[in-house]
Amino acid sequence: MMRIVLLGAPGSGKGTQAQRLQAKFNVPQVSSGDLLRDAVSRKTSLGLKAKAAMEAGQLVSDAIVLGLIRERLSRVDAQNGFILDGFPRNSDQAATLSKLLIEIGQPLEAVLLMDVRTKTLVQRLAGRRICKHCGKVFSVAALPKDMTCPKNSKGHELYQRADDKEEVIAKRLDVYQSQTKPLIDHYNKLGLLKVIKGEGDLEAITARMEAALKPAKQKRKTNAKTAKKKTKSVRKVTVKKVVKGTRIKKKTIIKLKSVALKKPAVKKSSRKTLAKSGKALVKKSSKPKAKNVSRKTSVRKK
Ligand code: ADP
Repeated sequence: MMRIVLLGAPGSGKGTQAQRLQAKFNVPQVSSGDLLRDAVSRKTSLGLKAKAAMEAGQLVSDAIVLGLIRERLSRVDAQNGFILDGFPRNSDQAATLSKLLIEIGQPLEAVLLMDVRTKTLVQRLAGRRICKHCGKVFSVAALPKDMTCPKNSKGHELYQRADDKEEVIAKRLDVYQSQTKPLIDHYNKLGLLKVIKGEGDLEAITARMEAALKPAKQKRKTNAKTAKKKTKSVRKVTVKKVVKGTRIKKKTIIKLKSVALKKPAVKKSSRKTLAKSGKALVKKSSKPKAKNVSRKTSVRKK
């Protein structure tokens, strides 16, 4: 089970890493960009509406993207988790996503932020080429010798995405700064954010992401175990002493309460001191005093 969001600027490697993680963890990559591009190429009514915004490097309207994401998450292969890539991209989308995930009982486990310098982002985007048959992504700076395509006998045929043209890249980076970056703070406050250094060897980046995901799960398990143990030991002692009854019982109960509330434990001390520290004891210990008083009074009366 893996339910995560990949956050990061255009060109930060969300798509590439999502593909690697989906193969390893057997959960689908859900990319809003891919869903939109698919709608555009199939010329659906949503696609026709989205096209202009995409080519200008602007965000497509929330309603269109949400419709696509909602439908994609309802498919069978997303029932065991998902890797969201490119969504959410603004605060409204984040709020709607959290409602949707609660609705379908699949809350987020983590948000991984791909941290990459702007200089690197621009280089990657401007040099990105994609095979129009199999969708594999290449960099013009490092094209492999072997260009065999699994889907085309003549080999990979590369094209450049319309929004990877230099004039559009700047706009996309602006949109990221103003609309998407605030989500970093949002998810950090929710305790979900993990920052991943997104530069260097592809494998090393994937390994960093996996490492960031592991402790979150292990930590939760360990915390749950420790919490169980603590409750047990406190309960045991309380029960024992309650059965015994008498004054010792009162002391012990106060001690245990102090531990639970992380207040300094009450010292083993005289009954008087204990009486001052707990309401219950004050009540009970005041009884004998009252008797004494009444005796004295009765003596006086005599
Ligand atoms: P990148 O992250 O490299 O910009 P994507 O493939 O994720 O590329 O997105 C390409 C374009 O699709 C974006 O520039 C935008 O126009 C549109 N898009 C993708 N995801 C969203 C989204 N969540 N909300 C609005 N528009 C989106």
